[in-house]
Amino acid sequence: MAYIIQGETGEWEVVIGLEVHAQITSNSKLFSGSSTTFGSEPNTQVSLVDAAMPGMLPVINEYCVEQAVKTGLGLKAQINLKSVFARKNYFYADLPQGYQISQYELPVVGEGTVILDLPDGKTADVGIERLHMEQDAGKSMHDQDPKRSFIDLNRSGVALMEIVSKPDLRSPEHAGIFLRKVRSILRYLGTCDGNMDEGSMRADVNVSVRKVGETELRTRTECKNVNSVRFVMQAIEHEAERQVEVYEDGGEVVQETRLFDAANGETRPMRAKEFAHDYRYFPDPDLLPLEFTQAYVDDIKQHLPELPDEKKQRFMADYGLSAYDAGVLVVEKETADYYEDVIEKGGGKEGLDPKQAANWIITNLFAVLNDKGLSITESPVSAGNFGKLLHLIKDNTISGRIAKDVFEIMVEDDGDPETIVEEKGMKQITDTGAIETAVDEVIAANPDKVAEVKDGKERLLGWFTGQVMKATQGKANPQAVNEILKKKILG
Ligand code: MN
Repeated sequence: MAYIIQGETGEWEVVIGLEVHAQITSNSKLFSGSSTTFGSEPNTQVSLVDAAMPGMLPVINEYCVEQAVKTGLGLKAQINLKSVFARKNYFYADLPQGYQISQYELPVVGEGTVILDLPDGKTADVGIERLHMEQDAGKSMHDQDPKRSFIDLNRSGVALMEIVSKPDLRSPEHAGIFLRKVRSILRYLGTCDGNMDEGSMRADVNVSVRKVGETELRTRTECKNVNSVRFVMQAIEHEAERQVEVYEDGGEVVQETRLFDAANGETRPMRAKEFAHDYRYFPDPDLLPLEFTQAYVDDIKQHLPELPDEKKQRFMADYGLSAYDAGVLVVEKETADYYEDVIEKGGGKEGLDPKQAANWIITNLFAVLNDKGLSITESPVSAGNFGKLLHLIKDNTISGRIAKDVFEIMVEDDGDPETIVEEKGMKQITDTGAIETAVDEVIAANPDKVAEVKDGKERLLGWFTGQVMKATQGKANPQAVNEILKKKILG
């Protein structure tokens, strides 16, 4: 689906690249042993290294390196066996070193690919330019005192991965799908928790526009530190429209850093864009180049968990799911696990209908979770009981219609569907004698309609089926009802 902005001078398209800052899941920081626990009292997790005391030397945290390599492999990217840490120099109150240790010319991870799962079931590839490791800065607090600002260095030195996409994205929607997919991969890998509201994942959004058909990129702006998927999409939308207006008013877009203001959904200028040379990058003399063997990389690769793309393919092949359903179920590993647990507890692929199971989870269970604001791990219906319910449909104990009623009762206290069906007398009537009695009664009460059916209005049979189902409180097996009706009326 093309995202086109209709301007006064013609059609415009938007070109988007994202830089995702993802905090590496690790108990200690990138170059020191300080804790990374979120939400602690200010300045309680600061070593002499993090505070940049004179003479302190950084020591690389091997676990963080492994996490970065793992992430690179998850992004189907080139792993560079040699990479170099560089100093990115700038002055800011929350950066005690006066420089950030980052990677510049030789990042640990090179080019890769992220596959977007689109709403129509199709996919699209987005290129990854690179992934590098770097330190996070501290935090300035301006709201504690009317006259002074305070600095919290707990975050100073925490390990980040900066994942840079190629400018392959063409719509706010795709940018949102990209971010969610990256987050999903990171969570599967356990290399970043992806919690954007805690700041452990945030995005810098690069946006430019050009006339449809142009091949050169125009000047871009960058919105810094956008901290939710929805805000990223809003920032793109607003920024693209603003740029189109600038061009159509005869102006030029200036390369600059802008700030997304969530309160009014707008972007505004923050500072003139720095160019790489402003940072005076040079290799950090305190750190040796990072080198590892192919065997080290291969070993990490062998121990990667099954990732969303592979899981999706397996769900389609093993359970016959549509690309869309499989894609929805694998976004969160917990949902995928729940689905497979339902299948197992329901007696496997023979014990229930796996497609029906996917449908029930995506439609019925998700509605309940949404409504109650719960995650799948807090589901009020356990996978065991859900599996049992679907098995009861499969073996004709209850109809799909009755199952919906049973499900509503289960939602209250994770009731056992077998007990509910038994206690409430909800079993499907398969006893033909009982169904025949109900059919006879409906026929006797509607002689005129019977005559119409006999006259050839056979589609009225559906109405009769409905009446019998009503009379049996939905418990009759609809197929049996149909057969008996045909036999009794049409002979
Ligand atoms: Mn960065």
